[in-house]
Amino acid sequence: MQVDIAIIGGGPAGSAAAITLAKSGRSVAIFDKAKFPRDKCCGDGLTTLALRLGESLGLIPSKISNWKDVQEAILHWDDNRSVPCALPSGSGSYAAVVPRLDYDQALLDIALANGASVYQGHGLESISIESEKAIMAIDGLGTVSANSVIAADGMWSPTRRLLGLSIDSYRGEWHAFRQYFKNVGPKANKLHVWFEPDLLPGYVWSFPLSGRRANIGFGVLRGGQISISETGQIWKDLLSRPNIREVLGDEFEPEGRHTAWPIPARVNAIPLSHGPVLFTGDAAAAADTLTGEGIGQALLTGILAGEALLEENQVAKIAKRYERSVAQELFSDHQMSLVLQKILSHPKATRCALSVATSTKWTRNNFVRWMFEDYPRALLFTPKRWKRGGFRRLGAYTDRVEH
Ligand SMILES: Cc1cc2nc3c(=O)[nH]c(=O)nc-3n(C[C@H](O)[C@H](O)[C@H](O)COP(=O)(O)OP(=O)(O)OC[C@H]3O[C@@H](n4cnc5c(N)ncnc54)[C@H](O)[C@@H]3O)c2cc1C
Repeated sequence: MQVDIAIIGGGPAGSAAAITLAKSGRSVAIFDKAKFPRDKCCGDGLTTLALRLGESLGLIPSKISNWKDVQEAILHWDDNRSVPCALPSGSGSYAAVVPRLDYDQALLDIALANGASVYQGHGLESISIESEKAIMAIDGLGTVSANSVIAADGMWSPTRRLLGLSIDSYRGEWHAFRQYFKNVGPKANKLHVWFEPDLLPGYVWSFPLSGRRANIGFGVLRGGQISISETGQIWKDLLSRPNIREVLGDEFEPEGRHTAWPIPARVNAIPLSHGPVLFTGDAAAAADTLTGEGIGQALLTGILAGEALLEENQVAKIAKRYERSVAQELFSDHQMSLVLQKILSHPKATRCALSVATSTKWTRNNFVRWMFEDYPRALLFTPKRWKRGGFRRLGAYTDRVEH
């Protein structure tokens, strides 16, 4: 089989790239080893960045099962401090929670509707570069050659590994657990974040889902105060901590098994291209290094890869354009997140920062908007964004009636 553009992986990064290209009439084929709908170990939280980009790609919340808008985040620290922080109302959506089973399927459907070919249950098995073209073996399909490849195949990126570009012993910056629960108490109908001193700069979350369900999990920084081998025990102990239990109620029950997965967050220190191959999303280690969120970054890098292919037609120029645009959009935010992560590594500094950030209604409103990326974290260092009205941007879906 011969294709113009092959996309390896049909998660948010792969679908975003496919939609961008297919909408402009380019011929694209997505190959994913999984059959959709498929789950992905994730908190299912959509930040403002993810919501805005999802809207631009054609995602319609009312058409996606189990979409849950979030209007308020409740922050907990110091065992007994909890502060509700409201997101702006009447100016669009700033945060939402959607199970990845539904979200990823909806994005893939848009790619299909725009003319992308989607091969599910067909994983990449080998890849080599010959005369600036990619020659791949795809499970069940045989040899596929492509002029360009977008690697959107997640944290362990088989494309990167098969090209010999993996970094030995790299396991991601974060390690995170998540599990779905049913019959959670009424307080768990809101979004909660706990800054537990032993997990800093990591945190625990309970993200609300419809029908008394919640996505609950926690993440810790690799090399931080907790070793990864201890996290299994922490997970067992976490749900019995009184401050967390109080929100979850007495009747909550697990649904299925918990899952754990790494989060890669080093976008400025990883090759973003190799010949005709562009790396996107988790395959480009694009998650935010402060919060571990990566859906918005996956959409963004997928779109940027698509745009680079639309705007240039030589392999070297495509790669250069893509790398430049990723650097422009993500590197300053990444640097700023690294600085903040250092501050949040210390319980005293965290306590102090949270006390100040939640001291008045104004600081609470702005802090929570900032948490959900309404203000990109490095806005002060990227004056280009000021012109776009970065300090007063509306949320996504401004014409939609919130529910
Ligand atoms: C516990 C946890 C909680 C998280 N919570 C959040 C959150 O609340 N909000 C947020 O924004 N981010 C969160 N993240 C990060 C987020 O899940 C990822 O950043 C995001 O999924 C990256 O999307 P992607 O498209 O790059 O990769 P993925 O979503 O991982 O998709 C990769 C695709 O590649 C396919 N693939 C793999 N190997 C092959 C192969 N050989 N051939 C073909 N296809 C292949 C896979 O089947 C998969 O469909 C969390 C991560 C974890 C681990």
